[in-house]
Amino acid sequence: MRIVEVRELSVPLRGQVSNAVVDFSGHEVSLVAVVSDVVRGGRPLTGVAFNSIGRHAQGGILRERLIPRVLAADPGSLQGDDGRIDPTAVLSAMLVGEKPGGHGDRAAAAAAVELACWDLLAKHDQEPAYATIARAHGRREPRVGVPVYAAGGYYRPGEGVPELRAELAGYRERGYPAVKIKIGGLPLADDMARLEAAVEVMGGGQGVAVDANGRFGPDEGLAYGRAMSGLGLRWFEEVGDPLDFDLNRRVAEVYDGAIATGENLFSAPDVQNLLRYGGIRPDRDILQMDAGLSYGLTEYARMISLMEAHGVERTAAFPHGGHLLNLHIVTGLGLGGCEAYPGVFEPFGGYSPDCLLEDGRIQPGDAPGFGLEAKPGLAEEIARLVA
Ligand code: MG
Repeated sequence: MRIVEVRELSVPLRGQVSNAVVDFSGHEVSLVAVVSDVVRGGRPLTGVAFNSIGRHAQGGILRERLIPRVLAADPGSLQGDDGRIDPTAVLSAMLVGEKPGGHGDRAAAAAAVELACWDLLAKHDQEPAYATIARAHGRREPRVGVPVYAAGGYYRPGEGVPELRAELAGYRERGYPAVKIKIGGLPLADDMARLEAAVEVMGGGQGVAVDANGRFGPDEGLAYGRAMSGLGLRWFEEVGDPLDFDLNRRVAEVYDGAIATGENLFSAPDVQNLLRYGGIRPDRDILQMDAGLSYGLTEYARMISLMEAHGVERTAAFPHGGHLLNLHIVTGLGLGGCEAYPGVFEPFGGYSPDCLLEDGRIQPGDAPGFGLEAKPGLAEEIARLVA
């Protein structure tokens, strides 16, 4: 199997939502297709993926650096022993000439291509990506159907507590047992009014997580922690700057509930530092690294190994980015669960109609690969990319 072409397309996110730090209305995502020399049904077998959600598209890095390196590599160097494309080898080829450290946008760019290789392998074997991922990582029988929660509760222009209540009640009616809402975009008292409404709608704090998106310094983080401490929340996410491990440690010393972090760590060495210095409590805290932002599944699997080496079970992993790529990764690797973005971050966020949501768990459909072609809105963009 050889890679004959890699295509990329920047696709805008739809909708106008913001968290405490970022307005997503101008965001784009890089959709990538890895075209192989295998022909099926008269068409080249093609793997498709994207660079998760929440960072910008990576067209420049892909076109100018990463894709030319893949196409210039000796085709044999990109294959495993079985003659098929080896995603880890493709990642190595993309990173030739790149210095270690400083894991920024190139990590998301490389992830889109690496994950498209996994889609290609799964389509080659005519099976859902979670099956391919599980087998490649020595996991025999993946449990299909993983815990899921709805991530929403964004700040929207002109909307307040009544709209938040209606949004969360909608998630509950659709079968999501838990939700996540944003904090840090309003004064503490106003955020607490939102939060108390959310707890009421969800029937208790265990149904509600909050996400500060790295907004707080230590004083604000501790003030929010104290204010929220009686609510028994599901978790308190990204209290401060993602690389301020000491801040995380200090808040963890005071805040009894679970703390979640990691979505903005893009490399295994960064995760190693979080585990060493971030005060992570293996009995309750949640780690949210996202393969689609961090060089793909190769690097993400290294992160999971690091967690386990530090006594943190893989069920503590709830990757950021509620979309089909992570649903298959969570299922294949036996992680804790997934987020979902019902109706937010379209066309990438949320799941396809063939994914079954039942008893608070979501299971992927049977389509080969990540099943991205089964998602309305995304299917049309993929058709445009591979046409
Ligand atoms: Mg978050």
